[in-house]
Amino acid sequence: GLYRPGEDAVWVLDSGGVRGATANSSAAWLVQFYSSWCGHCIGYAPTWRALAGDVRDWAAAIRVAALDCAAEKNHDVCRAYDIRLYPTFRYFKAFTKEFTIGEDFKGANRELPTVRQSMIDFLQNHTEGGRPPACPALEPILPSDILSLFDNRGGHYVAVIFESNSSYVGREVILDLVPYENMVVKRTLDSDRAFLEKLGVTSVPACYLIYPNRTRGFVNIGKPLRSFFSAYLKSLPGVRKKILLSPEKPSREENVGTTVWREFDKARLYTADLESALHYLLRVELAAHRSLAGAELKTLKDFITLVAKLLPGRPPVMKLLEMLQEWLASLPLDRIPYEAVLDLVNNKMRISGLFLTSHVKWVGCQGSRPELRGYPCALWQLFHTLTVQAAARPEALVDTGFEGAPQAVLQTLRRYVRTFFGCRECGKHFEEMAQESLDTVRTPDQAVLWLWRKHNVVNSRLAGLPSEDPRFPKAPWPTPDLCPACHEEVKGLDSWDEGQVLVFLKQHYSHANLLDTYSADPGGPDEEGERGHPAPQKSRSSQHPGSLRPPDALGSQPQPSENWAHRPDVRAQSPRGAGARMEPAAAVPFLGAGFSSLDMSLCVLLYVASSLFLMVMCFFFRVRSKRWKVKHYAPGV
Ligand SMILES: Cc1cc2nc3c(=O)[nH]c(=O)nc-3n(C[C@H](O)[C@H](O)[C@H](O)COP(=O)(O)OP(=O)(O)OC[C@H]3O[C@@H](n4cnc5c(N)ncnc54)[C@H](O)[C@@H]3O)c2cc1C
Repeated sequence: GLYRPGEDAVWVLDSGGVRGATANSSAAWLVQFYSSWCGHCIGYAPTWRALAGDVRDWAAAIRVAALDCAAEKNHDVCRAYDIRLYPTFRYFKAFTKEFTIGEDFKGANRELPTVRQSMIDFLQNHTEGGRPPACPALEPILPSDILSLFDNRGGHYVAVIFESNSSYVGREVILDLVPYENMVVKRTLDSDRAFLEKLGVTSVPACYLIYPNRTRGFVNIGKPLRSFFSAYLKSLPGVRKKILLSPEKPSREENVGTTVWREFDKARLYTADLESALHYLLRVELAAHRSLAGAELKTLKDFITLVAKLLPGRPPVMKLLEMLQEWLASLPLDRIPYEAVLDLVNNKMRISGLFLTSHVKWVGCQGSRPELRGYPCALWQLFHTLTVQAAARPEALVDTGFEGAPQAVLQTLRRYVRTFFGCRECGKHFEEMAQESLDTVRTPDQAVLWLWRKHNVVNSRLAGLPSEDPRFPKAPWPTPDLCPACHEEVKGLDSWDEGQVLVFLKQHYSHANLLDTYSADPGGPDEEGERGHPAPQKSRSSQHPGSLRPPDALGSQPQPSENWAHRPDVRAQSPRGAGARMEPAAAVPFLGAGFSSLDMSLCVLLYVASSLFLMVMCFFFRVRSKRWKVKHYAPGV
């Protein structure tokens, strides 16, 4: 993840932790659900860390937390909280008993002061009885109340912040002093001018201090800022930090898993990356949508059609995609629960030879740190593969409705990104680029080049940002070492030979350039055990597309779904697995126990088919009996 327990002031939650932390908590929570592969989340992490550090002293009243939705162990929980876009910020009130997905943060922006102020608004939105007990009153007091404070008999300091109606300084100082004893902070507004003049207040914000010995007066502070007020009040003699009984923050994780580097060739494409992207897309990204209907469902159908028809994948994956595509196309319903898709992807029918890896394994998309590259990298590769394959094999799209439509692939990818891609900002940028120029695409080759050009626009925009992997710096692609012919010098400037770029893209994203090295083997030993030991390079170029795995070999392999049942990663990920039990009812049981949605749709199909058959038979016998009557009826008799 992007945050280190014990090092950062952020409360780093895990799957059990969200509910565990927020349920019936004596403090309110602000949780950022992020994805460690999302560039904007990476870019935003320093702000979140700074915010958590800035409001560290507010922890008894409200806490700043984070959960990494990209971590496999957290997939179910992010789904339960209905997280579709990253980052998503949710507030949880103190003493929440029932399961809730929280309240969305609605700020004008995500700058630190805006979020901090929204935290205060959220605290004030608690009902009187539901407010965190450690949170002092944040409402302004009246001038008459101030007069009564002058007779201070509590043996502690009382500070009163005078401020304007729109100021948050008073409330920030009140919360900053929560863990300190011998200090009570109040705030009042500057509306009663006469009263202010009487006390000698000339400008706001200002701090009026009543000492334990009841002497009083204005504090002369260098700058009338929250940090100055808070630091001064904390430094007063006798003001000490209380020993808090609130639960301790989780400490640094003991077992930070070490990942072994997989050697790869950057001139090749890896099946493991494309399959990992498909797994993530189908089992995680899509899972954020509990049911699919209307335009969403149409986008999914079109996207799966493209992948099923165009991906030069391994037979077990292609069979699965084909089945999914046919099933989606034949659906008589215009709304389906996501569970139904998942059932099929998980091959609940136990049809042998259908298999899609059930966890991510990045090869060409590995990052030098776990939070870098990965899914968005492989998604780009998948998109480029689709545009290239549509140009190279237009016949693959016959009878799909996409034939003869050169923009069809790009428009479908555009809709996919807009509807399902978790990276909120990426979707926005991609849509802007599409609106600008996608309609200029007239041929499948132009579609290949359009996506290449736009990807380079994104590369140059992201160069130098925190999401850039230092080991894989963003640069116009393909670099001269990958494709010397793509580059030429015009008036001393490096420029593209687009004809050559097209040739290169068609080769790079071709079937022949795909390597199956490191790909999950449905029947093989647990691939995790093989990490870091490069398997012999299995190139597609030496094999006939249809003969990658003989059908009888597929049939004799152990059934994948049976293997999965023993794999801890699948159990954790399954909505019916251990992880899911921690969060209430994220999964929607589909039509009762024992039947999967696929079973149900097959039943419906069978039912419709047998009704049709009966109707045809009835019709047939009726016609026959009429003919018989006509033949044997003697009118004269
Ligand atoms: C549709 C989409 C939009 C995105 N928008 C944003 C955004 O707005 N902001 C943000 O922070 N992140 C965005 N991302 C993520 C970002 O583009 C990268 O994917 C991420 O930073 C990982 O970068 P990477 O170094 O792995 O290389 P990537 O840019 O992901 O590239 C993956 C692989 O594709 C190949 N490649 C590189 N350039 C090209 C090209 N021009 N044509 C063909 N192949 C190429 C290379 O082999 C490279 O390793 C987006 C991702 C996608 C899929």
